[in-house]
Amino acid sequence: MAETYDFLFKFLVIGSAGTGKSCLLHQFIENKFKQDSNHTIGVEFGSRVVNVGGKTVKLQIWDTAGQERVSRGAISGQTPASGVTGSPWPHRSVTRSYYRGAAGALLVYDITSRETYNSLAAWLTDARTLASPNIVVILCGNKKDLDPEREVTFLEASRFAQENELMFLETSALTGENVEEAFLKCARTILNKIDSGELDPERMGSGIQYGDASLRQLRQPRSAQAVAPQPCGC
Ligand code: GDP
Ligand code: MG
Repeated sequence: MAETYDFLFKFLVIGSAGTGKSCLLHQFIENKFKQDSNHTIGVEFGSRVVNVGGKTVKLQIWDTAGQERVSRGAISGQTPASGVTGSPWPHRSVTRSYYRGAAGALLVYDITSRETYNSLAAWLTDARTLASPNIVVILCGNKKDLDPEREVTFLEASRFAQENELMFLETSALTGENVEEAFLKCARTILNKIDSGELDPERMGSGIQYGDASLRQLRQPRSAQAVAPQPCGC
């Protein structure tokens, strides 16, 4: 059966390696914790259709799948460009196509690793410059289940979120806590911005596409208009 949805949003999961990005994606798509870490190099996708505020939205989620250092380094110039060292860094264009046209992002750090928290600003800059300044970002402090090993307080991260206009949740890909909420909160905010006119789905690179369901609705009034044109008032 063909999938019917009102919108398709491109989402990214970004943040330092080891923060649990792939596990968050897996938990959201499969509803279980991913035990064995997959070290495949390349972008991985997941998609799921969700219902948000009466609209069906297909979330097409891109995971870096082990290319984190590449994504960061290729932009900041800290790592050699593709081919220079013979290392498996992908071409800069891979990074660009990863970010291009994303409507939303989960920006992930590990609450037990200050280092991953310290790199958040750099990731955010990449997302806003390479995806869109309007990208809707939710900050996820992952590994909430490891509270005794915490290095970053909730308060500190919520201040960072506030200062940078991000939404914020602490999540656990292990227990599933707040994982669904993170994706849905991001999707809900995008929908609200579409409703208020702040985001235009028809703008190139918005990361938003109409699905079959909304296309049908859009076509309806247009054809009706053609039959009964509005008086022009002149
Ligand atoms: P990525 O590099 O950001 O994609 O991180 P992974 O998803 O591969 O996870 C890195 C490691 O953290 C793996 O050993 C996971 O089992 C572990 N991990 C991921 N999420 C959680 C979590 O919420 N809680 C705990 N305790 N471990 C997690
Ligand atoms: Mg990964």
